[in-house]
Order: sequence, then structure tokens, then C-alpha cells
Amino acid sequence: MGVLSMNRPTASTKKHDALVIVIGGGPAGSTAARLLATHGLDVVLVEKNLSFKKPCGGGVVMSAFEEFDIPKGVIKREVRAIEIVSPGGTVLEIPLNGGGLAMVDRREFDAALRREAEAKGAQILEGECLRVEQGRTVSVFVKSGETVRELTAECAIAADGVNSRMRAAVGVKPNKSFFTMSAFVPDHHTERCEFWFGAAHAPRSYSWVFPAQGGSVIGTATTERGDILSLFERFRERRGIRKESAKELYRIPLWSGDLYRRGNILFAGDAAGHVMPLTHEGIYYAMRAGVLAAEAVISGDLGTYEKRWKSAFEKRFILMAHLERYFLKDDASADRLVELHRKPDIQAASLRLWLRKERGAKPLRDYMRLFKEFIR
Ligand SMILES: Cc1cc2nc3c(=O)[nH]c(=O)nc-3n(C[C@H](O)[C@H](O)[C@H](O)COP(=O)(O)OP(=O)(O)OC[C@H]3O[C@@H](n4cnc5c(N)ncnc54)[C@H](O)[C@@H]3O)c2cc1C
Repeated sequence: MGVLSMNRPTASTKKHDALVIVIGGGPAGSTAARLLATHGLDVVLVEKNLSFKKPCGGGVVMSAFEEFDIPKGVIKREVRAIEIVSPGGTVLEIPLNGGGLAMVDRREFDAALRREAEAKGAQILEGECLRVEQGRTVSVFVKSGETVRELTAECAIAADGVNSRMRAAVGVKPNKSFFTMSAFVPDHHTERCEFWFGAAHAPRSYSWVFPAQGGSVIGTATTERGDILSLFERFRERRGIRKESAKELYRIPLWSGDLYRRGNILFAGDAAGHVMPLTHEGIYYAMRAGVLAAEAVISGDLGTYEKRWKSAFEKRFILMAHLERYFLKDDASADRLVELHRKPDIQAASLRLWLRKERGAKPLRDYMRLFKEFIR
């Protein structure tokens, strides 16, 4: 018998503060809390800063708004084409046929997702989880203002992002990651999401310019923290941007697929490294991991979470990790990646997987066929 079927609390049996504690109110945590609450489960979501604006490009595939039933009022702008620029300077515009990319402000987007969870019955608590104790139940110690409270539940979902304290609490090393530097550029306007490749400013990664309200967001990424400021400056010069506002340093986890569950804690989103290799898309996969973790809780068998995640995504993540290693190893390979995307069949296959998130084996098989000579 599963954990919840044994212990679903009723008015007379309830001995915990909640059935499930969700730690972190970003896309992964809020989506999990919403689904749990929708199923009538008693859930508390703990978020350390309800005003936090996560450093992020804010690009979310339009299809996600239907899939997760997110209010479209948070969309600031819909982007209908992307531009990819090779290290050698080839610029390729790709229309986003059959979809689009929504640009959101992360403070508003995250708040909207939490409101949806609250509307379904999740309790939202502003506080920082300091540590956990695991036994038959989970105790989470939460600091709100000057007080520290102990909350107990039957299980927890750790969705506390790339700097996950819960990961450390269960003795798992931090994820390897990309270091990013990004900044808002006021009064600089672009209609498209631009992806710029080149080892001079984004070794093994890419730099970006995304539209934002009143300007754009630019940024770059690398695995070497020490180089990030000079890489950012080089990209700014290459893109011809003169002045940006305060720069922010943050990390994007590298997917390793090594953490799903420790005892009665499930890990979702950046805390588990659920960011798609090559594209660095994390918001959609954080929300999907939140759904899969919640479904495992609802099923009464936490052990199914890893199977659910792997059956939905593992093959795609492995494929994209291969392509990332192959195409981003040097400038000549990144030039090739951009050249390949001139081909209509490659564009179409990429859009089916990336933009429209088509499920099932066929879109993945078609993509693998097109890229098979690059997969080692
Ligand atoms: C510069 C940059 C640009 C990016 N651009 C994009 C993009 O355009 N599109 C895209 O899809 N992805 C992008 N990503 C990735 C994306 O931002 C993440 O993958 C996504 O936010 C992960 O969601 P999450 O819910 O797992 O974690 P987060 O969004 O990081 O949420 C974690 C939450 O947990 C809270 N928290 C942390 N510790 C505690 C604690 N101890 N107690 C309580 N609460 C806690 C935090 O305050 C936060 O609200 C970008 C990342 C970076 C760094």
C-alpha cells in the first residue's frame, strides 16, 4: 500500500502540519502544489521570498500555457521568430511555425503560478527552509522573520532551485552548472529571440538577446566562473550594445539525471538539474517535473517518480546532451549547427520537439535520424 493511501489525513487522523510540503515557489514547486491541491491533498508551499525575481530570459513556449492552464495575462509579448548567429557571423532567421515563444516577467509569472496553486487550496507560506529531518515523516525547519517553525509532513517535494539547500541536506553534491551573467538593456529593442554562438563569448554554450518590457535582456553562459565578466563584455561588444543596467550572476544546472528521490523527498526542476541540454530551457521542464512529482505523490508510490520522469524525458535529454557536446565543442562545429538549421526538414523537426513539445517516439526518432551522424 502506498504512502498516501495509508496515511491520507482526515479530520480525525491528522497528525502532521500537511500531507506534503513543497519547498520553493518557482515554476516546479507551484505547479506541483497546484496539482496536489487540485486532488484535494493537504499541501503547504514554502517560498523564501515571495517578491523574488529570478534572473532569467523569461522565454516560455506558448504551448505551455494550454498544457499547464496558465493565465495568458502574464505574457508580455509573443515572439514569432528566432535568430541564430554562428561564430563566423551567419545570421539565420527561423520562423516559429505552429507555435511561438511567450516572454514573461519572472516575478509576475512565478506569482501567478503561486496564485493558481493557492486558488486550488495550497497554503503558501513565506519562509526559508533551513534544514530537514527525515524519518517515517519529514520535518522541515522554516525561518519566517525571527522565528523558526518545524513543519511535518508525510513527504516533501524539493523545488528550491539550482542552489538547493535540500540537495545538500540529503547529502547530495551540488549540480555541475553553467555560470551566467545577464543584464537588462533599457531602450534596446529586438523583435526576436537571438541566440549567438561563439567560443570568444560563450564557450560550450551560447549568448542571448531576448525582448523584455522597455528594452531587452542580454546574457552569456560558460562553465568557468572566473571568465564570465570578460565573456559578457565581449558579447556586449560583438552585439554592439553600449550600456546595460546592473549585471546579475546566476547558475543554470547541467543535467546529470542522478537525483529523483531520497527517502520521502522528491526533487524537481533546477534542484534536480532538469534543464534541457543545448537549449538551456528550464521553465517548461521544471513545471513538468512538478507535475510528475505530484502525480507520484497522488499515486501513493513515490518510487514511481523516477520512472515517470525517465519515460517522459530521459531519451530526449540524452540526445540533446550528445548534440551539445558535439556542436558546442568549438566554433567550426557551432558554425555547422547553424548551417544545418537552414534545412527545412531540420527546422521542422527541431520545432516539433522544442516548440510544440510533441510527445511520443516519432518526433524523437525523426530528429535522431536527421542528426544520427553527430551522435556518438
Ligand atoms: C540567466 C538565466 C536565463 C534563463 N533563461 C531561461 C529562459 O528564457 N527560458 C527557460 O525556460 N529557462 C531559462 N532559464 C532556466 C530557468 O530560469 C530555470 O530552469 C527555472 O527557473 C527552474 O525553475 P525551478 O522552479 O526549478 O527553480 P527556481 O525558479 O529557481 O525556483 C526556486 C524557488 O525556490 C526558492 N527557494 C530557494 N531556496 C529556498 C529555501 N531554502 N526555502 C524556501 N524557498 C527557497 C527560491 O526563492 C525560488 O523562488 C534561465 C536561467 C538563467 C540563470
